[in-house]
Amino acid sequence: MRRPIIAGNWKMYKTINEAVAFVEAIKEDVKNTEVEVVVCCPYTCLAEVKKAATATNIKVAAQNMHWEDAGAFTGEISADFLKEIGVDYVVIGHSERRQYFGETDETVNKKVLKALEKGIKPILCVGETLEEREQGTTFDIVKAQVLKALEGVSNAAMADIVIAYEPVWAIGTGKTASAQDANEVIAYIRETVREKYDDIISEALRIQYGGSVKSSNATEIMQEDDIDGALVGGASLDAASFLEIVNF
Ligand code: 13P
Repeated sequence: MRRPIIAGNWKMYKTINEAVAFVEAIKEDVKNTEVEVVVCCPYTCLAEVKKAATATNIKVAAQNMHWEDAGAFTGEISADFLKEIGVDYVVIGHSERRQYFGETDETVNKKVLKALEKGIKPILCVGETLEEREQGTTFDIVKAQVLKALEGVSNAAMADIVIAYEPVWAIGTGKTASAQDANEVIAYIRETVREKYDDIISEALRIQYGGSVKSSNATEIMQEDDIDGALVGGASLDAASFLEIVNF
């Protein structure tokens, strides 16, 4: 059985005070859940959120990191900086980073490898654009993204990876992929991982769906066989709404 993982990706929202208040607001309610609960915070909140989340059932993720250990990379954040804070996960290759900040499959791969080396678990994001879906290339695109991102990732390290399938056209648009469509692509991702690795690794791999997940559609999405969790944007900003999703 794969443990469900529900992560709130706050994107560029929440000050330190707001982020800590959110953790305080949900920590009692998530104490006994079977679900692994993660909040993906802006860099500025990470240290305080990690402190607030100590001895709770809440894990903390960064939304990005650089692939080099250190260097003249103004404005960038290294894995060691995140490690020092005790960050558990890092989102890598979110479509907004691919779209607006020049992230490529190659930089995604470098970041995945560095995060694993440093003991931070990647939440690796993949997904097709609307144009790609309309051209019928969804499966090819997603397969290529997954294989490139996992280049050089050992069998053992696969235990630390979570993949998030986020169709770009479903992010922040209110359009959700149907639960069946999402499950079909996610099952294909699992098959891709099975071909590259083996049955045991692909069956243990947790794959989330992301894109306009909210309390009203979380149950349906989570009922699908291959969907092991959700990466939630807008609906994760409000504590009550996020809790409803965690309690799908
Ligand atoms: P929304 O839930 O706001 O569509 O965002 C999804 C997302 O990008 C999560 O990473």
